[in-house]
Order: sequence, then C-alpha cells, then structure tokens
Amino acid sequence: MPDSVYRKLQEHLNQLPMGFPPTESGVDIALLKKMYEPEEAELTLALTPAPQRADQMAEKMGMDPGSCKAKLDRMGKRGLLITTTVNDERHYVLAPYIVGTYEYQINRLDKEYTDLHNQYMMEAMGLEVFGGKTSLFRIVPVEKSVESVQEILPHDVVKTKIMEADRIALTDCLCRLKSKAEGRGCDHPVRTCLSLNRCADFFIENDLRAEEITKEEALAIMDMADREGLVTQTQNSAGDLDYICNCCKCSCGIMATVVHLGLHNQLTKATYINTPDLDACTGCGTCLDRCMFKAIRIIDGKASIHPNKCMGCGLCTTTCPEGAAKLTKRSPDQMPDVPESVQAMYDRIQAEKGRPQAFHSFTEIQKTGIAD
Ligand code: SF4
Ligand code: SF4
Repeated sequence: MPDSVYRKLQEHLNQLPMGFPPTESGVDIALLKKMYEPEEAELTLALTPAPQRADQMAEKMGMDPGSCKAKLDRMGKRGLLITTTVNDERHYVLAPYIVGTYEYQINRLDKEYTDLHNQYMMEAMGLEVFGGKTSLFRIVPVEKSVESVQEILPHDVVKTKIMEADRIALTDCLCRLKSKAEGRGCDHPVRTCLSLNRCADFFIENDLRAEEITKEEALAIMDMADREGLVTQTQNSAGDLDYICNCCKCSCGIMATVVHLGLHNQLTKATYINTPDLDACTGCGTCLDRCMFKAIRIIDGKASIHPNKCMGCGLCTTTCPEGAAKLTKRSPDQMPDVPESVQAMYDRIQAEKGRPQAFHSFTEIQKTGIAD
C-alpha cells in the first residue's frame, strides 16, 4: 500500500489538540509505519474523538461487522486506539500520539521503535508537547510534604483523588521500559503508575500490563514513590484525572527534557515552593540529591532555592534530617492556572493551537454520552 495512507493518518492525527506534526525527514511516516499495519491505518482514518461502535465503523468501512470488531479489538491490544464503554456497549475512539498511543505501546517496545520515537520527539513532537501555553502535565506534591501546609488546595492532594476513584489500575512505567529497551534503564521500580476509573478499565481490558488494585495498595505505591525519590506527575487538571505517574529524570522523557533543556516553565508547577528554615538548615546537602530539578544550591552553608526551578514536588522535605526544608504556598501571582478538568485542559490547548478537532476525555464521554 502506498505511503499516502500514512500521510493521511498523520494529517488525521494532527487535527487533534495534541497533534502529530509532519517532518522534513519523514520520520513521522516511518514511525506510523512501524506502529500501524496498512489496514490499521485505514481503520484509524475512520476513527474520531467521538466514540463509535464496531457496527458503525463497519458500515463506514464497508466491512463485515464481526471482522471489523475483531480488528478493532486487536488494535486496542496493540495500543492504537482507545476503547471505552458507553451505554453498556464497547466503543472505539481515535487516540492522540501523546498522551495516547505512545504510552499504549507498552507491549511493543523495541529498539527500532524507540529510535524512531526519539528522533520524532527531537524533530517535531517535542515542540508539539512543550511548545504550547497550556501544559498537558503538572507536578503534584508528595503527600507528606503538604500535610502541614495551610489552605492546601484539594487538587493538590493525590490521596483524595485515589480515595475518590471507583477503580484503580497499577501499570508498568512506559518510560522505564522504554529506557531498558534502549539499553539504558535505571534501577527505579517499574510498577509505579496508576490509572483511574475508565482509564483503568482501558488498560486492564486491553492487557496493557495493568491489574486492578485497592485504594490502600495505591496509597502504598505513592509512599514507595516518595521513598524512591520519584516525582508525582498527573494531567494538568484540578478535577478529574486519568492517571498518576511517578517519574524519575533518568528514564522519564518529560522530566529529562525539562531538566536538560531548562524548560521548567513548560511544565505546570505545583502551587508550592520549598522555603527552607535557614536557622534549622545545616547545609548537609541531602536535599540536593533529592531534587531532580536542580533547584537547590548550598550557599554560605545554607540551602538556597531557585524560585523558577522549584516545581514544588516536596521530595526535599521528606528526607531533610533537620526538618528545615518545607513547602509553602506561592504568592497568588505565581500560582499556576490549572484547568478545572481534563476536558477543559484539552479545550484550552485546542483553542490555543487552533486545531479543528476537539478531544473528549474519558470523563466527558461518560458525562455527556458523546457518540457518533
Ligand atoms: S536537607 Fe535540610 S538541612 Fe540539609 S541542606 Fe537541605 S534543607 Fe538544609
Ligand atoms: S526544591 Fe526541588 S525537591 Fe524541593 S520542592 Fe522544589 S523541586 Fe521539589
């Protein structure tokens, strides 16, 4: 089949708020060819952000409904689309590359794929993800670091999100698996990421290395992440969340890019900043090792914080032997403007980029029953 189906697929994906830009080198097409078989590319051209049943897709494609359903279900397991249940029926949704089919390649990582992905990130997708005004991601402070903070905002308490979730799935960290596939890897645990509610269902029903866990088990994962010095990252939403990632700069593409290129402003900060008690600080430097954003220096024997680099993750506070490192709320003019929901985040990104297609979050689909 000619390359044209893959060019059409690139253009189709590029309609979304978080798109799939073309490249001069053609690595965008090479990446799509690696991920999608030609027939899968054709089927994806018929997918939309609005969920569709297999029989609707079959009618569009002129296919036998049973055969169409089998192909769509296989694509779900290959991480090429989103499945969700609407009115007790399985529906299929067009997935963006990030956050989407890239993260869903969890069972298909090999060196060829990761090389293509890395080249594509450098040439085009990095700018697509980090070049906009509204971030896809935000840092959430580690639970223990904000227990004593006055007037903590509800969306900064991960525990609340976990306790409110109907279902939680524990999944492997795609970034650490990818880094291992590249022959790098790090010693941090792999089983660290949480998916919530419909996103949890999606990971479990498509065998994307996920298992349902209890709220207590999820809270234990968050404690483990703190011990391991992992930064908690979620969608840039004050309301619903689909996932909670626990990231390290050794393997996480987002963290590594932010730290190495100094793109701290491209990641929405937490509401808090480390303001160490200088009387108590002994300048021991323990916090330097904990801070993956290079926000701390020791000056004249005391910890000094770079306000633009501190992301308010709180990791420095939980191991400070003197209890000197502590989070306080940023001033109102420095507070991040966090969208009220995942849908509001995507709507903002769509408006900022002038993209023709909206993207519907798992929550929005359930709330409104959006379907073709
Ligand atoms: S770990 Fe605590 S005591 Fe040590 S330098 Fe950092 S803030 Fe100061
Ligand atoms: S100083 Fe570093 S470790 Fe501490 S809250 Fe800020 S970013 Fe996190």
